Amino acid sequence: MTRPTLIGLDADDTLWHNETLFRLTHQRFNELLAAYADAPQVEEHLAAVERRNLKVYGYGAKGFTLSMLETAVELSGGNAPAGVLGEILAAGRELMTHPIDPLPGVRDALEQLAQRAPLLLITKGDLFHQESKLAASGLGDLFAGVEIVSEKTADTYRRAFRRHGTPPEEALMAGNSVRSDILPALEAGAHAALIPYPLVWAHEAAEAPHAHPRFRQFDTLAQLVPWLDSLV
Ligand SMILES: [Mg+2]
Repeated sequence: MTRPTLIGLDADDTLWHNETLFRLTHQRFNELLAAYADAPQVEEHLAAVERRNLKVYGYGAKGFTLSMLETAVELSGGNAPAGVLGEILAAGRELMTHPIDPLPGVRDALEQLAQRAPLLLITKGDLFHQESKLAASGLGDLFAGVEIVSEKTADTYRRAFRRHGTPPEEALMAGNSVRSDILPALEAGAHAALIPYPLVWAHEAAEAPHAHPRFRQFDTLAQLVPWLDSLV
């Protein structure tokens, strides 16, 4: 295998915490709806509403907030007081404005990776929120490009890599999601490196393709550096 000439990187749960914040918001949401349903019922209903709404709102905290509101209205039979809906809005707003700190070692690893190949941030979600998070993380200057996409498919990766002058076969995609970062990047013909995050969003769960020749798994982003250096 030759050394990649472009490194694609996922953002949420690869560069900074995301799912942990969502889990805390879920807990708060469950408490707010405790008068109407128990936590497993709330979770089940919210998951169904989210699935339904992904096609309408796409990924991200704003769509999630609308799904929480819709769940509250439905589970309360239309009787949830405005005070509860206001608390849900506040929880969603907190998700949008939470400080963004890079995961341990990420800045250092990105600096080293950027010396080896240009870095391209490829993330799905809300354009405004993802751009705000990148700015808040202080990591923006390390990236040669940013692609905020509505869905990560093989075609998304092919187009993103080509737009940055690289055939997919010469690119590497690194991220925490098997379903979004690994499988479609491999399908596009790129190399893919999984760096798992302890929590996985239910909609993202998938089996890692351990036997695939272009797949690697690492514990940290920093481990990509010696691996890249071992390639000619
Ligand atoms: Mg991610």
